[in-house]
Amino acid sequence: MSTDERRSHVAVIGAGPGGYPAAFRAAQLGMRVTLVDLEDNPGGVCLYRGCIPSKTLLHVAAILDETQRLSDRGIRYAKPAIDLDKLRDWKTSVVRKMAGGLGSLVRAHNVRFLQGRARFEGPKSLYVESENGNDPQRVDFDFAIVSTGSRPVTPAGFSVDGKHVMDSTSALELTDVPGSLLVVGGGYIGLELGSVYAALGSQVTLVEMESHLLPGPDRDLVKPLEHQLKSTFEQISLNTRVTEIDVQESDVHVSLTGSRIDQTSHRFDKVLVAVGRQPNTENLGLETIGAETTERGYIRVNAQRQTTANGVFAVGDVASEPMLAHKATHEAHVAVAAIAGKPVTYDPQAIPSVIFTDPEIAWCGLTESVARDSNIPHQVIRFPWTASGRAATLGRPDGLTKLILEPTTERILGVGITGVGAGELIAEGVLAVEMGARADDLRLSIHPHPTTSETIMESAELFFGTSPHYLTRGPD
Ligand code: NAD
Repeated sequence: MSTDERRSHVAVIGAGPGGYPAAFRAAQLGMRVTLVDLEDNPGGVCLYRGCIPSKTLLHVAAILDETQRLSDRGIRYAKPAIDLDKLRDWKTSVVRKMAGGLGSLVRAHNVRFLQGRARFEGPKSLYVESENGNDPQRVDFDFAIVSTGSRPVTPAGFSVDGKHVMDSTSALELTDVPGSLLVVGGGYIGLELGSVYAALGSQVTLVEMESHLLPGPDRDLVKPLEHQLKSTFEQISLNTRVTEIDVQESDVHVSLTGSRIDQTSHRFDKVLVAVGRQPNTENLGLETIGAETTERGYIRVNAQRQTTANGVFAVGDVASEPMLAHKATHEAHVAVAAIAGKPVTYDPQAIPSVIFTDPEIAWCGLTESVARDSNIPHQVIRFPWTASGRAATLGRPDGLTKLILEPTTERILGVGITGVGAGELIAEGVLAVEMGARADDLRLSIHPHPTTSETIMESAELFFGTSPHYLTRGPD
């Protein structure tokens, strides 16, 4: 990089998992960096209202569920006494600790951090208005990266008051544990936060307008979770839409269409609306600089994450799906590399998705359903965890590992895993797909015993008909 490029001033709008890694990487490359966020510290939705608080609570939920499971192994616990204030404090302390770490990293990288709302006022300048009483500032830049994230969608006619009708943000505040909770939407958030509230004692009813839970993963991966949720949730009603939510003084009356739920159960103490998220593109002055948005409302970007405005890039939820923190971070690194003049392209073969329920569901690369619908030649191998020694020791044979392979080359095109710890295991699948690994590579790599990671190696063995523990390859 030339000295001129090093001295470039990069303005980053939004300090979530897209924005702060972009700022840090640009600083590491010697650029001058200003990072702007509505909060007075980096972290974004992921840290304050998303991934971190929800996973902190999901870990507690998993332990609560696990203690219940021990009863058939001779260990019985009394009904847990839940001190909600303490649990909330624990969640807050985890977030605070990480926020403190990020604050130090901002200083260590010599990044200028501004609290405020940024909007483009010209092709090379931002106007930043503080909500903390600080004077507004003008920030002139050579390059800008927009990473303003997304917010929950509220369907017309639903008024989220945070008290009786919650979105993911208010649900994570954990003000109380309602006796009955209706979860609208059987996606990531509905299943994760529904699981938290169910573990804490709420009777959870879930409605989903589609004929199945979770858009995205193959159905066979979802099945073990569905089975589990049938016992942890009060009811799950598919093909069901909420048509009206009527908030009363002490509860919420909900009208449903297509419902198979008893008429009497349409009254709930609280409702959680989790029907998707939308990109934050408003009030940024995108029109001022000529940055276009797509029909679906994302900022239009090219393979380097450059928008239609010269020198302005966009990464993360605001730029494209999937709305996942790790994908935002990867895009951020691509955008900064492009700014630094490096030949770089955003072209991941495998973005892992993980649903942090119990069991977890994780997948990456090509799914079986996409391969089938798109007529991509493929072969599927399924290795059930009933054949895993480690799963037996855990008392959790309710898992499945599957490989999607290219028949002619034996290359791994996709990996899907359901089971305890699937979110950790999928990283090997990502590496396999990204490296163009073949079934032989997985088979010949010695995996530690006894671990559930062996199911990946044994899936490859199964492909060759040489699995020592499972003999049926199953339908392709
Ligand atoms: P989602 O897209 O995952 O699921 C929303 C679900 O709501 C869909 O199944 C949809 O069919 C259903 N739905 C929509 N309107 C409905 C209605 N009126 N009645 C009943 N059902 C309805 O959305 P989400 O759960 O809100 O999560 C948003 C995004 O946040 C996800 O797409 C994901 O990218 C991200 N996220 C990721 C994680 C993770 O990585 N573990 C966790 C939480 C959120």
